[in-house]
Amino acid sequence: MPGASGHVVIVGGGISGLSAAYDLARAGASHTVFEKRSRPGGVIETRVNQGCVLECGPDSFITQKPEALALIKELGLDAGVIGSNDRERRTYIWKHGRLVRLPEGVMMMVPTRAMPILKSPLLGWRTKIRMGLEYFRRPGSPGDRSVAEFVTDHFGQETLDYLAEPLLSGIYGGDPARLSVQSVLPRFLQMEEKYGSLVRAVLAARGTAGPSGPLFRTLQSGLGKLIDALASRVKIAQKEVEAIERVAGGGFRARVAGDWIPASNVILAGPAWSAVDLLRSVDAPLVDLLGSVEYSSSLTLSLIYRSAEFDGMHAGHGFLVPKQERERLAACTYVGAKFLGRIPDDRIVLRCFFGGAGDAAILNESDEALVVIARQELRRMTGLTAAPVSYEIARWPRSMAQYTVGHAKRVEEIRARAASIPGLHLAGNAYEGIGIPDCIRTGRAAARRIIGDS
Ligand SMILES: Cc1cc2nc3c(=O)[nH]c(=O)nc-3n(C[C@H](O)[C@H](O)[C@H](O)COP(=O)(O)OP(=O)(O)OC[C@H]3O[C@@H](n4cnc5c(N)ncnc54)[C@H](O)[C@@H]3O)c2cc1C
Repeated sequence: MPGASGHVVIVGGGISGLSAAYDLARAGASHTVFEKRSRPGGVIETRVNQGCVLECGPDSFITQKPEALALIKELGLDAGVIGSNDRERRTYIWKHGRLVRLPEGVMMMVPTRAMPILKSPLLGWRTKIRMGLEYFRRPGSPGDRSVAEFVTDHFGQETLDYLAEPLLSGIYGGDPARLSVQSVLPRFLQMEEKYGSLVRAVLAARGTAGPSGPLFRTLQSGLGKLIDALASRVKIAQKEVEAIERVAGGGFRARVAGDWIPASNVILAGPAWSAVDLLRSVDAPLVDLLGSVEYSSSLTLSLIYRSAEFDGMHAGHGFLVPKQERERLAACTYVGAKFLGRIPDDRIVLRCFFGGAGDAAILNESDEALVVIARQELRRMTGLTAAPVSYEIARWPRSMAQYTVGHAKRVEEIRARAASIPGLHLAGNAYEGIGIPDCIRTGRAAARRIIGDS
């Protein structure tokens, strides 16, 4: 097994690749992160405009998974950690021409409190009665199936359309009819197996230990600070890796700008599709498996307004637009309400999300056209007529892995195939989770395997 004695080539300088490099650097292992973009971070990018801290990609990480906070602490950045502003934690759903508040006590699509659901105009009486009857469902699970099948089976079509789809679309940019419940909502599948009823399971789990405080955290001055801190501790070359080959006697060589660089180990830390061309000569079955992981594209547009001119509705942390009712806008975050201290008092920032499965074409629109589309939709939904004073756009083609039905088995095969090639390691959002903590975990695990510190 190749150890850390040789050089380690890391393909991709997103959070996955940088996390791997960080541990290699700490262990004194020779390494280079190759990143083809002009800056490290992948989809994590923070820009500052008009004094506003604007996230172009992720804006926070979930605290139930410890890896992000642990890394932040190791890097000495913990003083800058803030939680989401849960005092204003209201989310709205666009339904039949108005923004309807998401009832309190709903966990994804599972109601945990009767009154807010009963009073909410978001769901009709048939759905509410169905939610009540779900409580009496018996244990047993038909196993993996699509999220759409799972949700409609428990709570009906309206719950899928107005709760599960918009909430999941914000995370995966995916189609619930294709996403795997086992990979996307594993906890709910376990609950179904044990209790039958998700309502009963969630009520039973209430009060059991979990991290206290806000569900989401971030760095006040942006997640870009995490990238800066990692990048300053590792060796990065702003170059594209063009091919990887195995070398007789063990190890690899990577072609970078026409030159071949020897490597004892290679960590592939880009999207699965980016490894397909690189590995052609290494392992055809692995190439096929990696190529079968689908990705969706997304785009964020942050619109900056003068507070004094803002005449739209204030909608808590923001709103989601269910696919049923969507033209182009999928979601909108009121950044200053969600994270205190990121936006000056005299500015209001609306961060608009576009794209996802079914609308990759939005990435081809010009900046000017995108602003027009967003303004038209915001006017219709919130009454906002003011013009933004500035904006920032970020396009993320094929960036979000889609865990479609059968994903867990596919990943098992990928992992087994990769393990049969000594020195080859896979990290990134294609495998066991797309969130920042998951990506950090895969990167650090790859490094640990190399330095043998497991
Ligand atoms: C708009 C958006 C919002 C999100 N929001 C959240 C959120 O709020 N919370 C959360 O936890 N997660 C969120 N995510 C998901 C999460 O941010 C990503 O899954 C994660 O950051 C991916 O990191 P990565 O390093 O695996 O991949 P990437 O960030 O995609 O980085 C991979 C890098 O590899 C480089 N690369 C690829 N091939 C080569 C090559 N041959 N040579 C050199 N370089 C190469 C690419 O240029 C890229 O920079 C969001 C994602 C997006 C797109």
